[in-house]
Amino acid sequence: MRPRTHLSSQTARGRRALRPRLAGLALAALTACQAAGVRSPAPCPADVCPSIADPRFDVVVLGAQGGIVSDDLSAYLVAPVGSHHFVCLDAGSVFTGLERAVALGSLGPGERADRALRERIRGYLISHPHLDHLVGLLLAAPDDRPGKFGKFIGGSETTLAAIRDHLFNGTVWANFFADIGPAPRLGVYRPLQLEPGQLTSLPGTGLSVETWPLNHPGGSSAFLLRTATGDALLYLGDTGPDPDPGDGHLARLWARIAPMIGEGRLRAIFIEVSYPDPRPDERLFGHLTPGRLHAELTRLASAVDPREVTLHGLVVAITHIKPAPDATRQIRQQLAALPDLGARLIFPAQGRRLAL
Ligand SMILES: [Zn+2]
Ligand SMILES: [Zn+2]
Repeated sequence: MRPRTHLSSQTARGRRALRPRLAGLALAALTACQAAGVRSPAPCPADVCPSIADPRFDVVVLGAQGGIVSDDLSAYLVAPVGSHHFVCLDAGSVFTGLERAVALGSLGPGERADRALRERIRGYLISHPHLDHLVGLLLAAPDDRPGKFGKFIGGSETTLAAIRDHLFNGTVWANFFADIGPAPRLGVYRPLQLEPGQLTSLPGTGLSVETWPLNHPGGSSAFLLRTATGDALLYLGDTGPDPDPGDGHLARLWARIAPMIGEGRLRAIFIEVSYPDPRPDERLFGHLTPGRLHAELTRLASAVDPREVTLHGLVVAITHIKPAPDATRQIRQQLAALPDLGARLIFPAQGRRLAL
């Protein structure tokens, strides 16, 4: 089991006393981040790139936001630590993210974005077919190559059918699939259909994935990535809260991962917070706010141990913030003001490399 952090070892009273200080720290980090400017390869702040003992995954953030901007949308490269071969989780911004990662040195010395696209991304897992999770893949496809291993696009039956019928259909875009959809098939990507709850290996990555359904219009998926040694990382595509608290897609996912948190095998959760509070249910559109995320994480912590509601220092990466004016600052402040659950909140930034 991973050593407990100072945060998770506080008593409830101690945590409450710490809270204003933690909120102050979060704000100081935010100010430092703004002062450094996202375009400068300055040292990465701790609430963007946490320092984790004995990391098991390398993550390179290709896109972190959830809207309006087209060049910084959800896309995360993940590989077992030390590997150079990534799966890309969602594909909102691929090439612009690779260029930013190259500029920050996150893909190693001498790497180029075009070469990284072709040789280091072994495939994609797409949580759902909304354009903000796909458009980077579409735009990069003409410059991509299957390579000797072939490349996969993995997703639910619904997601793959939507890509085949509505995007790679020869009208909106060429058919870059092998095997399915209309001729001519350009054969860059093989479809990899994922069945809920089943473990599927991801060719060329050293990783396997289990997929779980989420609460979002048209459906969405979570990806539970596993290494050969049993370490895990959970990425959720867009999701709203369970309509019946404690009984729904998220409750089942929490029941699945709670034992992994107890054993210290789950290294991080990437989960969305699209809007600040307050936001009425009818304007949620299948997304989370700080308060609703906190309610779900409280249920997760209770599933880990109902006597001591803590997430044991687990990294929780906040994704898909829709950058309305001031939304990022409000979401950070609101999350910092909620009762501490022993999680380590981080805010991924485009181009940064995380060792988790
Ligand atoms: Zn969506
Ligand atoms: Zn989205």
